[in-house]
Amino acid sequence: MKIGFTTSFPVEIIFAAGHIPVDLNNIFITGNAKKFVEDAEFKGYPRNICSWIKGMYSVVLASEIDTIIGVVEGDCSNTHSLMATLQDQGITVIPFSFSYYRNQSELEREIKKLEKYFNVEHHQVLQMKNRLDQIRKKLVYLDELTYKDNKVTGLENHLWLVNSSDFNGNPDDYEKRLDDFIAEVEIRHPIKSDFRFGFLGVPPIISNLYDFLLEHNVNVVFNEIQRQFSMPYLEKNLTDQYLRYTYPYSVFDRLEDIQIEIKKRKLNAVISYSQSFCHRQIDNILIKKYIDIPVLTIEGDQPGELDARTKLRIESFLDMLKY
Ligand code: SF4
Repeated sequence: MKIGFTTSFPVEIIFAAGHIPVDLNNIFITGNAKKFVEDAEFKGYPRNICSWIKGMYSVVLASEIDTIIGVVEGDCSNTHSLMATLQDQGITVIPFSFSYYRNQSELEREIKKLEKYFNVEHHQVLQMKNRLDQIRKKLVYLDELTYKDNKVTGLENHLWLVNSSDFNGNPDDYEKRLDDFIAEVEIRHPIKSDFRFGFLGVPPIISNLYDFLLEHNVNVVFNEIQRQFSMPYLEKNLTDQYLRYTYPYSVFDRLEDIQIEIKKRKLNAVISYSQSFCHRQIDNILIKKYIDIPVLTIEGDQPGELDARTKLRIESFLDMLKY
């Protein structure tokens, strides 16, 4: 069975149960994204609701997915209504929560509930975690090839890390393609750039942001949330892995990770991306307050290319960094 999900959660459980996890965000953004948003609006989704939510709604209805896991705490409050509208269309919805307090026993309880639902033993889940960790180790290496060796573009780094949320439903195939990619980039010449940027926030809905930056001699060598999806800490225990995963918890947890990576990766500046109508835009107040390198905030709304205004803002920001 294909099991859709709204954001990263212990995906090991789904693989261990013999099902295929599907990150609905990835299907939305790599498909006919504009049409998915329009379809949801046609069904009554309001204009002033985030495009990702509308996209996921349409993706489920347009696919063969009949069960979804919705992360109802630690991600997006819109997920509650997304799940209700999908349930009304006959979709089975399973809630999963990351405790606001980053609480170990509460997370363990959520993991056990999901294991019970999918009728899978914890030792089987751990076996699957060990298998996925072999691939995650390679992603850590790919990330090093990005920020230490400058051999991977920000877009390539983004794509590999963001797709590790579900390994495209087939870890063996993903690993094989990753091995080929790593072999290819190892022999590349380093990318020359004027600035090393970090990208903070949810993955962008804008299709050509990384290309535009690279055309202006900026390489993104830190993709914050995408890296979090790749579970880079390689904790032995499943609960610890998802406790260290910063995305579902407070912005202060994210800031701790971001501060470390800014220094480690020698970043010149960061782009703090936010999605129109997303509550996470408020986090930018604290990101700007606590990050001590230049921060450019940009906002994406509909799927598509960068608009002229945002291009101008990026160019002005680069001028400011140069002089
Ligand atoms: S971008 Fe924000 S509003 Fe949109 S789905 Fe993600 S958390 Fe929710």
